[in-house]
Amino acid sequence: MAVHTVVIGAGVIGLATAYRLARAGAAVTVVDASDGETGASVHNAGWVTPILSAPVPAPGMVGKALRWMLRRDSPLRVRPVPRPEHVRFMVAMLRHCNVRDFNRGLLALMRLNERTIELLDRYEQDGVRFESHSPGQLMAFHAFETRREYQHAMAPLERIGHTAEQLTGDELRDLEPALGGHARAGLLCPRERHLDPVSLVKGLKDRCRDLGVRFVFDSPVEAVTFRGTEAVSVLAGGAAIDGDRFVLAVGARTGRLARLAGFALPVQPGKGYGFDDTSGAAGLRHSVYLGEAKVAVTPLSDRLRFAGTMEFGSWGDGIDRHRLGGIVRSAREFLPEFPADAPRAAWSGLRPMTPDGLPVIGRLPGRDNVFVAGGHGMFGVTLSPVTAEIIAAQIEGGKAAEDVAAVAEPFTPLRFAPKRP
Ligand SMILES: Cc1cc2nc3c(=O)[nH]c(=O)nc-3n(C[C@H](O)[C@H](O)[C@H](O)COP(=O)(O)OP(=O)(O)OC[C@H]3O[C@@H](n4cnc5c(N)ncnc54)[C@H](O)[C@@H]3O)c2cc1C
Repeated sequence: MAVHTVVIGAGVIGLATAYRLARAGAAVTVVDASDGETGASVHNAGWVTPILSAPVPAPGMVGKALRWMLRRDSPLRVRPVPRPEHVRFMVAMLRHCNVRDFNRGLLALMRLNERTIELLDRYEQDGVRFESHSPGQLMAFHAFETRREYQHAMAPLERIGHTAEQLTGDELRDLEPALGGHARAGLLCPRERHLDPVSLVKGLKDRCRDLGVRFVFDSPVEAVTFRGTEAVSVLAGGAAIDGDRFVLAVGARTGRLARLAGFALPVQPGKGYGFDDTSGAAGLRHSVYLGEAKVAVTPLSDRLRFAGTMEFGSWGDGIDRHRLGGIVRSAREFLPEFPADAPRAAWSGLRPMTPDGLPVIGRLPGRDNVFVAGGHGMFGVTLSPVTAEIIAAQIEGGKAAEDVAAVAEPFTPLRFAPKRP
């Protein structure tokens, strides 16, 4: 009988993993607390941009964060929440804001991203239907200094074929006439892509169903039952679901669920906001990064999507109008045609953040058959296909697991094991 894997979480990470396992012939059940269409996986900018895959904790971040703290509409906010896990998380993240950890993390993410584009192409060849665009990505800057900083951070990614070409303000406008004079310097990243994240989630779900994956929705996992070091079932929405392997792919809730499975992981939410504009006022072909404001603009077939801001210490899906207002203001600076009163469908999403800025991918320490795929922060869409490859290889074991061992090693949950003297 086929090995039965229970994947907890029907966001892009859980679905990509379920799809990869089912395609290889495994029996798979996906369990989700909702219908799987409420999480960050549908509320994001939809960029597949290995070139931007630098860890969030970076040298110089502390100074910027302190300056931004004074503005409620800034790209970054840390809410002063007196919860111990939040405070511990922020302190740990500060400790990772150094050159050594940043470079180490960047190298690890670069290796992880080596197959991203190839794996995404395979999705399309294998009948996963979703809206995807490949004209390349533009980055627009007001200050030359900001462009220089980005170029410096992205330069190592050339080694895996992700490059950035320098553009003047006029060259930017030749490519995207909607960009106004505020954009004085630019970059064109020809290999980066964008997609409609709602369609990717739907496409993966549909393909999973074709492959026989069973879905159990509206069933939050509340407990994990073990026999020795092996999990045997999860309690979801009051019913026990048995399995041979379990994958925890619950985004920002990874910390809580991993604790239920017996190992604490420091995953906290990094809340982002966005809105979809259907007015058609500012037409774009490329996805555009508004560098100083850290706002992502994504042209999709039926809407222009704006996304940005990072807020630590916030759970829930409430909308902070100040932060949303910050995104609208930046949009109007760079896209003068964009109307102040454009119809705005606002949304928020919780990025699953880790203190070192790296995802957590691998077997849960002390548990033989429980795997974690979470903490993907700002890159969950980009990293979903390769995460699924690694988890599938680790579940398969043997040569498959050996082949991914070196790439997967920096992401092991073991790095969060309590240090023994
Ligand atoms: C504003 C914004 C912009 C972004 N832009 C990009 C981008 O352009 N490119 C990119 O690569 N990434 C981007 N991201 C990041 C990306 O969206 C996330 O990294 C990714 O969606 C995380 O996916 P996930 O499947 O781990 O989590 P989620 O999408 O949060 O899914 C987790 C699922 O687990 C379920 N769940 C939770 N707890 C339980 C439980 N106890 N039992 C059962 N089910 C449970 C939830 O219901 C949910 O469906 C962005 C994020 C935000 C917020």
